[in-house]
Parts: sequence; structure tokens; C-alpha cells
Amino acid sequence: MTDDPRPQGFDTIAIHAGSQPDPATGARQVPIYQTTAYQFRDADHAAALFNLQEVGYIYSRLTNPTVSALQERVAALEGGAGAVACSSGHAAQIMALFPLMGPGLNLVASNRLYGGTITQFGQTIRRFGWSCRFVDLDDTDAVRAAIDKDTRAIFAESISNPGGYVTDIPAIAAIADEAGIPLIIDNTLASPALCRPIEQGATLVVHSLTKYLTGNGTVTGGAVIDSGRFDWSASDKFPSLSAPEPAYHGLKFHETFGAAAFTFHGIAIGLRDLGMTLNPQAAHYTLMGIETLGLRMERHVRNAVEVASWLEADPRVEAVSYAGLPSSPYHDRVRRLYPKGAGALFTIRLKGGYDACVRMIGALKLISHVANLGDTRTLAIHSASTTHRQLTAEQQVAAGAGPDMVRLSIGIEDAADIIADLDAALG
Ligand SMILES: *Cc1c(COP(=O)(O)O)cnc(C)c1O
Repeated sequence: MTDDPRPQGFDTIAIHAGSQPDPATGARQVPIYQTTAYQFRDADHAAALFNLQEVGYIYSRLTNPTVSALQERVAALEGGAGAVACSSGHAAQIMALFPLMGPGLNLVASNRLYGGTITQFGQTIRRFGWSCRFVDLDDTDAVRAAIDKDTRAIFAESISNPGGYVTDIPAIAAIADEAGIPLIIDNTLASPALCRPIEQGATLVVHSLTKYLTGNGTVTGGAVIDSGRFDWSASDKFPSLSAPEPAYHGLKFHETFGAAAFTFHGIAIGLRDLGMTLNPQAAHYTLMGIETLGLRMERHVRNAVEVASWLEADPRVEAVSYAGLPSSPYHDRVRRLYPKGAGALFTIRLKGGYDACVRMIGALKLISHVANLGDTRTLAIHSASTTHRQLTAEQQVAAGAGPDMVRLSIGIEDAADIIADLDAALG
């Protein structure tokens, strides 16, 4: 530590946050602590840990040093007070909602979301007695109208999956503030290299670590980052955080832990009881990936702009939906709120319709046909013949997965090689 108050830059944080030389061995890289349990010093030490009077390691469902290093790093990258890592992006969404929701309560979410999230919020969470109202976030009156006394959160993606939309986070954060509820931003597609939602007013950030943060298609993981700024005790809406917790002798998380309340609750209740824990090996891979996040995102964005511009000018392509293009209706918003770029995921529509899409996907050589995104490799998927094939044509179009649409996740290869593969495959 130095007395220098100068904040470190993003790329320095990406390499150093959460990591010191291992005190036992001097190992400079974060070791993989492949252990389930940790020896207590004595009975008093064990009791203090179990009472949350002392912070330390008990059992790896709750805490593990490799996972802790990752939590510290993603919290620092997002400018948050703390983070909880978990086993997938979808687990992170449940972990973020769990302390806020209860039977009969609802959340308001953007209608432009990752397909899996629409299913999780539209169907699965109903089994917990929770419900979700999907709205167009550009219609701020509709967002306000959807909020009622039982609403406990607003949820949106910064850059949305799949196509070409970016959220005006400050505008939605203002609505959440008025209603006294947290704004949760899924920052998976932007990554903190392109967008830091907490600086724009978000309360919580969720990530699928599976995508850009790990960056090379090796890990399934997630994280919830808390800004530490929400006053959970300002109303009686959030009793999990403000009221006495019977499982910890009546401890009140917000009163006791302040800005760390949401993070402590996530570990001491969320991971303990839901068990959606990230394993230490996955945490290690993600730490490795994060070291190069800033460099990779710069290249992802530069390639995406180059490939999208080439596709937009090609006569075989009907349209390109990418907020990073000057032709996008969201271009001004990108310049204002996402000055480092609109990510590297976009959709194209082909003039030849369904058949042309299937032919193109089949003819790709460099680009992989997979249901993933945010990899170093360029990836493509034709949703209508794969993930969305059970839907009717009308449902496919409504889901942004029309028969003539291909989704591209642009990698960090040489842009000329990505373009050459697309050019040859378009036939
Ligand atoms: C992939 C993804 C998720 C889900 O993450 P998993 O790690 O696959 O569970 C959530 N949101 C967005 C935007 C995604 O791209």
C-alpha cells in the first residue's frame, strides 16, 4: 500500500485486484485452492466464523481463496463494494433476486433480453411465486406504469443479446430511485471494459463469466456485484437485508455489515442454502481471462465494427442490426453512454431467407457454429434452425430470431480472415 490516493487504471486492476503473492509459498499467480474445508485454529475460532463475527474460510460451498480473489477482482472492475461468484450467469440472476423477492412479488424487466433469461423470468421463477413484467425500456412511461407496490427490482442488459440495442442506464436508474427499488444490470455483453453500470446509477450488476470475462469458451460461471449504495433499511420492502435473520441469531445484515450487506447475505445465506457455488478451478481460469479483458474488448469491438460495416455494404445482406454502426438508431446513445463501443455481438438478415442462412452456416470454415458468445473465436448461430426451431415463424420474428437472421459473435482473429470466411460462405 502507498499513501498515493491516485486510483489505478482499469487494466492494472484487471491484473492485480484480489491477487497478492501467496503468503505460504510466494506463488505469484493465484493458486487453485482445491480444498473443500479449512482447519479451524480452535473451537472459539470456529464459533466466531459460524456466527459471522470473524471473516474466514469454513467450507468451499461458501468461501474459497481462489474464488475470493475472483470476487475481489470483479468487484473492483465494476467499481462495486463486493461480489459473489456463482456457478453460471443464470445462477447469478437467481442469486441477485433471491434476497429481494418473495411469493407474490414481481420484477420489471426489459423485453430485450438473452432468450434464456426470458424463459427464466417468464416461466421458471413463477414456481417460487415470483413474477416478471416485460416492458420496452425506451418507453419510460410504460416502465413507470409497470411498477407497483409489489415490485422489488428493475432488470435490464446494458448491451442486449442478441441484437443492436443498448440501455439508457441513467434514465432507468432514475425511475428505480423514484420507486425506491434497485436496478439490476446484466453487464455480460459489455463487460466492465465497455460499461460500468454502477457509475451510471445501477445498484447491482450480474455477469455470465462464461462469456467475455473468461473470454475463451472454457468456463461456465457467474457473478453478482453490489454497488454498496442502496439503503435496504429505508423501507420495509427488503426484510431479508433489513430485518432480524433467524438463522444467525437475529442478526440484521444491513445494520451489521452496511455496504457489504448484500455480499455477506449472498455468501452466508445465498451460497449456503442455494449452493450455486463456483468451483476454484473455474475461478482460476476466469482470473486468467480477466487479465487480458481490456485488450480483448478493444480488439473485439474494432473487429465487430469492421465486419459489420463490410456486411452492411454487401448486396447479399438485407440488414445488419448493430448499435456500433452509424446507421443504428442507438448510435447517439452509444456515443454518449458506451464511448468505448457497443460490444461485438450482432445480427444480420440475409436476402435469401432461411435457405441462404442454413447454406451460409454450413459453408463457414473459420467461424464455428455454436450456441455461445464472447469467445476469442468468431461464432455464428442460425437461431431459427436451432435454439428457436420449436417456435412458429411469428414467434421467431417476435423473439428476434426470424428465419432470415444469423447471430454473429465477433472474435479477435484478424478481421480480414473473418470477412473472407463470411464472403466465401455467403456464396
Ligand atoms: C449467456 C448469458 C447469460 C446466462 O449465462 P450462463 O453462464 O450461460 O448461465 C445471461 N445473460 C446474458 C446476456 C448472456 O449472454
